[in-house]
Parts: sequence; structure tokens; C-alpha cells
Amino acid sequence: MNNRQLFSNHLGQTSQFPLAIEIEKAEGMYMYEKNGKSYLDLISGIGVSCLGHRHPDVIQAIKDQTDKYLHLMVYGEFVEAPQVQLAKALSDTLPDHLDNVFLVNSGSEATEGALKLAKRHTGRSKIVSYVDAYHGSTSGALSVCGNENLKNPFRPLAPNTFQIRFGEKEDLNFIDTQTAAVIIEPIQGEAGVRMTDTLYFEALRSRCDEVGCLLIFDEVQCGMGRSGKFWAFEHYDIAPDILLCAKGMGGGMPIGAFISSKEIMHCLTHNPILGHITTFGGHPVSAAASLATVSHLLRTNLIDQASSKGELFKSLLVHDKIKEVRGVGLMLAVEFESFDFLKELIDRLLEMGYLTDWFLFCDNSMRIAPPLIIEEDEIKMACSAILQAIHDVS
Ligand code: PMP
Repeated sequence: MNNRQLFSNHLGQTSQFPLAIEIEKAEGMYMYEKNGKSYLDLISGIGVSCLGHRHPDVIQAIKDQTDKYLHLMVYGEFVEAPQVQLAKALSDTLPDHLDNVFLVNSGSEATEGALKLAKRHTGRSKIVSYVDAYHGSTSGALSVCGNENLKNPFRPLAPNTFQIRFGEKEDLNFIDTQTAAVIIEPIQGEAGVRMTDTLYFEALRSRCDEVGCLLIFDEVQCGMGRSGKFWAFEHYDIAPDILLCAKGMGGGMPIGAFISSKEIMHCLTHNPILGHITTFGGHPVSAAASLATVSHLLRTNLIDQASSKGELFKSLLVHDKIKEVRGVGLMLAVEFESFDFLKELIDRLLEMGYLTDWFLFCDNSMRIAPPLIIEEDEIKMACSAILQAIHDVS
């Protein structure tokens, strides 16, 4: 049996339309098939490979760490240099009160940890989230997901969770003194890259303060420089009580985090028993890769460049069939008339050697989220390919 047959016979499947391409090597902006065919990566493994594939700094950090140790003990027992240095590096990018970092394995686990932390801190159980929000696949994270189709087969999920409309100030009244937390993506990802304005975020922050609940920002997808700022919430004038990150954070390795003040975090880790336990959270190899990724992002001007690179995409993606190009930095959605048209387009682009995708809850929009290292020439090439593919399938 070849690997493609093993893939369909023996690997648990998630997607209705798996790409089922066997990649032998990936480097920088490109992935390579066994037969030598290359694909320009325009989605970064869904917002993960922010420095491209196999970035030398990340590879070196992984090699150095594997020479020292792999797993030692469950998370939070030993002093592991990559973990503590990563925690400090992340804290240094944030407002003073966000100084305590709990390392986990993924975005979903970051969501779980944050929701538990908010419940424990406030002694309340109600959680408010948003229509079309995605915060992960585990039961707690699914409970705060804003898509009924995804949730329905798995009910009952966590009770006392409510979704309000993104950017609609009237809905802030649903946030009340029973509420433990509001969880929101500063830029909604799987909804198809949806943004709202500073005034909304200011009103949300005030409402949370008024009722005494915590505000959680999920930056699993929009963080780590993708929006043109290190953290997407820097586009607005307010800060959260808890911040989530994962995906791009590991530069290709699995890691996530939820971050709060030490005072808030303390109530989860002690008092009266353990609150969140993880065997592999903040694995030292992932933490070393993450530290190299964060350091590289801070040392270079890749994040500043993300804004102008995004604008270049927008200026070049002009066509009658394109209804809108939404987003900031290198977190973009290109809207077409229907899923059927987009699906044909994505398949055609794949044939031409360009990897794109749609969004979980917005299937008429193409995801453009390339590694931040993409160069101007590659953007021009990608945009001409997209326009050519539109022509081919029209
Ligand atoms: N939050 C957001 C905003 C996400 O986009 C995702 C993943 N798409 C998650 C959480 C869940 O992350 P993971 O798949 O690593 O569990």
C-alpha cells in the first residue's frame, strides 16, 4: 500500500475534501511533493508557519534543545530554561499586568485553561462569546463556538454559554453580573476575517469592568504579527485580562499559552486544589522553537512589513469576480460569489502550484495567510496566479 492509500485507510479523517498531497520537504515559502512539484504556501498551515517552513533559527533552537533534554516532568514542576525564557519574552511584549504565562499544547487547550481560570477567579459560570467565533475543538472550546452546525451533534455542551453579535453594542447588555468572562477574537478568523472598531472594544472593556467579569482575547490566529502588530489587540486602545495564543507562536511546533496577571493566574494553580494540569504543555523543544520564533519576530521588521505586504495583495486582487478583500496585514479574506466557484478556484490554484483554502464558517472566501517572510515578487506572482485561475474557471 502506498502512503496515499494508508492515508485514506488508516488515518482518522477530518476534512470532507482532504488535499491528500504527499509532501516530502518544505522550506521557506514552498512545499515540495515527491515528484518535485512545488507549492507556494499562501496559508502557513493555517496561520502556523509565520517564519516560513524550517526557519534556520527555529531548526537550530530545536537541535540545541534536543541535545539537552526532551520531556522531564509534567508541566510546572521543574525549572526548564526554554519555558521560563519564553514566558519572560512574551510578557515583555505585553502591558505590565499580563505577566504570567501558562504554557499548554494548542489553541483549544489555551481556551479551556482560560475559561477555567475565569470561572475560578470570579466564582461565576456564565460565558459570553460571539456568533461565528471559533476557539477550538474540545468540549469547553466548542461550547463557546458561535456556529450551531458545528455544536449541535455534541450537545449537551457546557451550560450557561451565550453568543452575541460581533461589533453590535446593543448586545453588550447580555454581559451581566452572572458573567465570568467574555471571550472574543480581536480579529475573527474562521468567520472569514471580520474586524470591528475601537469604539466597540472600548465599550466591551467598560461593560466587563462594570459587571466585574474578565475579558479574554483569543489571538490564536490573529496574534504573532499576522495583523501587522505583534498582538492584534494593539490595533485597539484596550487590553484583555487573559490573552490566548498558539499556532504561529511555535514557528511550526505545537505550543499554546494563556496569559494573565500573576494575581489572577494564582487562583487557578493553587487554591484549594490544582486547576489545570498538563503533561506536555510547554514541551521544552516546542518552547525553544517558540522562543526562537518570538525573538526573530521582535528582532526583524517582518511585522511592520506585514501591513504593506497585505496592502500589496489588496491592490493587486482586483477583478469583477472578487466581491471584497477583507483584513489587515497578512490575515486576508478574498470573497467570491459562492463556495462552488471558490472550490474550483482553489483546485485550479493547487494544480498551478499555489496552496490556498477557505474558512470554516465562511466558505465563499479564500484564505490568504502566507508566512510573514513572503516577498513582494512572490505576492505579485501569487496574485497573477489567482487572477489567471479566476479566468480559467470562469
Ligand atoms: N482559537 C482560534 C481563533 C483559532 O483559529 C483556532 C484554530 N483554528 C483555535 C482557537 C484552536 O486552536 P487548535 O487547533 O490549536 O486547538
